[in-house]
Amino acid sequence: MQVPVPHNIRKISPYVPGKPTQEVERELGISCSIKMASNENPLGPSPKAVEAVRNLLGELHIYPEGSGFYLCQALGRHYGIPMQQVILGNGSVEIVEMSARAYLNRQANAVFSFGSFALYPIACQIMDAPIKAVPMRERNHDLDALLDAVDENTRLIILDNPINPTGRHASFAELQAFLERVPGHVLVIVDEAYKEYADAPDYATVQPLLARFPNLMVLGTFSKAYGLAGLRVGYGFAHPEVIATLHKVRSPFNTSSVAQVAAMAALQDQEFVAKGVALNAVERAYLTRGCQDAGIPVVPSQANFVLVDVPMPGEQFFQAMLREGVIVRPMANNGYPRSLRVSVFHHYGNERFLEAAKKVLGR
Ligand SMILES: *Cc1c(COP(=O)(O)O)cnc(C)c1O
Repeated sequence: MQVPVPHNIRKISPYVPGKPTQEVERELGISCSIKMASNENPLGPSPKAVEAVRNLLGELHIYPEGSGFYLCQALGRHYGIPMQQVILGNGSVEIVEMSARAYLNRQANAVFSFGSFALYPIACQIMDAPIKAVPMRERNHDLDALLDAVDENTRLIILDNPINPTGRHASFAELQAFLERVPGHVLVIVDEAYKEYADAPDYATVQPLLARFPNLMVLGTFSKAYGLAGLRVGYGFAHPEVIATLHKVRSPFNTSSVAQVAAMAALQDQEFVAKGVALNAVERAYLTRGCQDAGIPVVPSQANFVLVDVPMPGEQFFQAMLREGVIVRPMANNGYPRSLRVSVFHHYGNERFLEAAKKVLGR
């Protein structure tokens, strides 16, 4: 192959998704494996979303609403925000990519925590932008250190809250104080993919701060609590000028008609969200306690997964767990060579994880 690849693209290590159930079963000749590797909703999609998709199937020849007018309107109503401040993405990850495309280049750098969401560095590398990956403190954002990393050429700070994969969080008050200190030439993206699951008394979405900070963007997704990961739909809230800038780099029809109608229906089904959140709270506590009882260090989580530490290379534990039919997520690529991320599942799955982990670790 003779076509040269630019050095910034060559450097990218591709995002490694969770291993699909079918692949594991095919490779190992086993059945009934369970996937606790991608933070998917154990309850499936909202039945109302499924119904809405079914009703749309005869209209698949029609292009979607370009910018998702009706879904933006519905999100605006639901969250009490003008729709000129809403943008949709093919997954919220696409909004991170659009922001990188719009604001970064070789001179304009981005700041984020090392060992937070694996897609942030990739989005920046595509733009050949300098990256400032700041070490975390106790597996949480070190907000002071992030601030110290900002210079006159910084354009983005990207923070997931709660953090994937540690499950830890920054409080509303901490983020408010942080935003007060961030210079106005830096757009702060707070990625709240797991906000529905966070129940710490000091956790809250920073959405109310949008009115005070025109350089704030808040992201949400239908992939987790709404159970629509397969459809790829997420949303961002920001100042109308930021939204207008992102529209310039957005590919037309970036969210499908199917995704739009499903998300609208899912948004109406708050009962489904509440049920999933309640299940997650109970099972997250069960999984955390189970790990503690087995002497497996576990980070207390605000999300729908927990990060566990093992006394062996994470990849080795991962492979041994596969043979037990339990798919978890090794985190070596993210900077955690001896940690794995385990998605909270139905009770039987969490039980199976604990049994298998004890067997593999000889507890
Ligand atoms: C899962 C996740 C998302 C959601 O991504 P989608 O593209 O909306 O599926 C976003 N940010 C973080 C940190 C995540 O873990």
